[in-house]
Amino acid sequence: MKIYKIPSDLRAFIFDIDSTLYTNQAYAFEQVDCQVRQFAKERGISADEARRMVADYRKKFAAEHEGSKVSLGNTLLAFGVPIEQSVQWRRELLEPADFLGRDETLIAELGILQEKYQLICVTNNPVLPARKTLEAIGVSDFFPEIVGLDTCFKSKPALEPFETAVERLSKSACERGLEGISAENCLAVGDRYDMDIKLPLEMGMGGILVSGVEEVYQIHKSVL
Ligand SMILES: [Mg+2]
Repeated sequence: MKIYKIPSDLRAFIFDIDSTLYTNQAYAFEQVDCQVRQFAKERGISADEARRMVADYRKKFAAEHEGSKVSLGNTLLAFGVPIEQSVQWRRELLEPADFLGRDETLIAELGILQEKYQLICVTNNPVLPARKTLEAIGVSDFFPEIVGLDTCFKSKPALEPFETAVERLSKSACERGLEGISAENCLAVGDRYDMDIKLPLEMGMGGILVSGVEEVYQIHKSVL
């Protein structure tokens, strides 16, 4: 766990989902591969051929952009698949419950955090599969709202999903008669610095980088 900053007036957590609230290599792979297989099917090429095209494109992109990674959505876009189409594939093809199960340790940890803080998720998956993921691990009730790829049609690390998360947290706090919430009151938790932490820190939030869900189990010890 790497703690970058913990806000002095902490009121809310913004969690990434994939490889943060669960750690599962097979599911992480499937999230990408189900779309690549669908792309292959529609192009009339083999799955292996499509996997090769994606790998080659990513290698070329990194070489031309100082090692930067390109999202799968933008890779498929380069092959002529609109973002709306790949969002739809993710909605239809992802079945988190085939890979993930209830996580009692995480449920207990989020129960502790929820007593003092509001919780929200920001993810680059559409809201529907993200919700199914939270349901599969048993933590859906802790997150009344998810900001997903189809909320603002912008993927992290864009500003919009994080701004939307802060707005929604603030609205829900006000509805419950609490003070509004601003970026300075939020703590972002995720497994990828560039996607989940860098921009929140620039916005004035706190940030904690985790290597997987095992480190999320320990978070209350760092903040309470
Ligand atoms: Mg992640």
